[in-house]
Amino acid sequence: MPKHIFVTGGVVSSLGKGLTSASIGMLLEHRGLRVRLQKFDPYINVDPGTMSPFQHGEVYVLDDGSETDLDLGHYERFTNAPLSRDCNFTTGKIYLSVIQKERHGDYLGRTVQVIPHVTDEIKAAVRKLATDGVDVVITEIGGTVGDIEGLPFLESIRQIALDLGKANVLYIHLTLIPYLKAAGEAKTKPTQHSVERLRQIGIQPDILICRTERELSKDDAEKIALFCNVEKRAVIEERDKEFSIYEVPLSLVENHLDDLIVEKLGLKAKPLDIDDWRVMLQRIKNPAHEVTIGVVGKYIKHRDAYKSVYEALDHAGISLATRVVVRRIEAEEIEREGAERVLSGLDGILVPGGFDYRGSTGKVDATRYARERKVPFFGICLGLQCAVIEFARNVVGLENANSTEFDSNCQYPVVCMLDDQYGITDKGGTMRLGTYPCKLVEGSKAHVAYGSLLVHERHRHRFEFNNQFRQQFAANGLEVTGSSPNGKLVEVVELREHPWFVAVQCHPEFKSKPTKAHPLYRGFVQAAIARREGKKNEATRPRHTAAAV
Ligand code: GLN
Repeated sequence: MPKHIFVTGGVVSSLGKGLTSASIGMLLEHRGLRVRLQKFDPYINVDPGTMSPFQHGEVYVLDDGSETDLDLGHYERFTNAPLSRDCNFTTGKIYLSVIQKERHGDYLGRTVQVIPHVTDEIKAAVRKLATDGVDVVITEIGGTVGDIEGLPFLESIRQIALDLGKANVLYIHLTLIPYLKAAGEAKTKPTQHSVERLRQIGIQPDILICRTERELSKDDAEKIALFCNVEKRAVIEERDKEFSIYEVPLSLVENHLDDLIVEKLGLKAKPLDIDDWRVMLQRIKNPAHEVTIGVVGKYIKHRDAYKSVYEALDHAGISLATRVVVRRIEAEEIEREGAERVLSGLDGILVPGGFDYRGSTGKVDATRYARERKVPFFGICLGLQCAVIEFARNVVGLENANSTEFDSNCQYPVVCMLDDQYGITDKGGTMRLGTYPCKLVEGSKAHVAYGSLLVHERHRHRFEFNNQFRQQFAANGLEVTGSSPNGKLVEVVELREHPWFVAVQCHPEFKSKPTKAHPLYRGFVQAAIARREGKKNEATRPRHTAAAV
């Protein structure tokens, strides 16, 4: 029978429960175990798809088209566990299902209540992942212990230990040990309080993972163990990481977390082998090159709004032994200050996905700058659409070209709504979502990067390149190098006369991993390195006069 690990968080939010859960998954996989990961989010939205990136950060899209929390991105980057719509539940999604059953008459006239109906629905969602062949299901509970809306989830995971037997269930609580500079000491009281809240609900954590800025002293660890009723060896330090989030699993190993989990759940596991991960970390610590990439977006101020894009750039850097410095650029800054001032000095420019008119002029200006100055350019989804608008206006000569997303009556709708999007009024879960195949043109930059003519990537959009303009674009040097197998949807465009100008309708960043960089991100960063190195050579080359040459 598959075992269950539940990860809760205490004291404050944003402690990195997602990263810790992903790291636990990674360690167990590297001990030969088959894991599944899932996250419960206590908010009422049915999924994060309708939430602003300013509120919630990136919306992470899975192969099956579900729009999920960005922690699922960590799960995919750290592990090989397959993810589906069964891996992310919100209060809204749970209630929607309960209410649909009630309307259908499934409860046979009974009063529908939080306990047992909502909790049963939650437990069913957990058990759904516990299929044959799975060794461990890791379930992360979003939010912080003590939140009112998280209660039904905590009650459900309490019941699961009763249903399955405590030997099959492990509770891991992630907590913060703040260091008070004025007092010169680490404080354990917030942790004691959050564990107390858990115990009031009936959950005694088996393992405490303590986020700390400084080393956790033996005395503090012993105090935490005693007051929280946890074994001393189960108080695990997780110190802030200097270089990379990919260091997290290693520090957990140093504190024997994997051994503890294997022992407490009675798992049959192989010895740990994480050489691949160690090699990857060595590459991060010893880069041979450095490049600066400008990411021009609208949600730049939110740390996680383009999370997977930043990660994919890092992965490309790791695979090329290069430190990728990301300059986050507010698209509206380009509108105010001009592209030249804001973008000069970059080795590559990336315009990521986005919605709505605000900032779109700055993004269009950024693609123009990259095209004219021959700076490596990578357009993602809205980034492709902006590149197409720019090319139409400034090269093809279609002055009022636009996307119908920005101007529904524009003279030249070079980007327009997908056919199957007309008439849709609901916003949630109605875009073109999930994985679609794409056929590439032989010899294109995309083909060279992928090394394959048929690729599959994830999508999240309502608008697309308008095929009516395809010939005009090609005649002027912007070619369609990837399309849906029936040729109807444009998936990739490239500039002929440019070192590396590739724009895609999909989101390739969702399939990038630290140990397996995405080919397009790699191709882009490689082009940025070539530009940087070329410039360096130019600067060091002895200057000849015309006569001397
Ligand atoms: N807003 C554009 C569309 O819906 C682009 C979406 C995106 O970049 N993900 O087509």
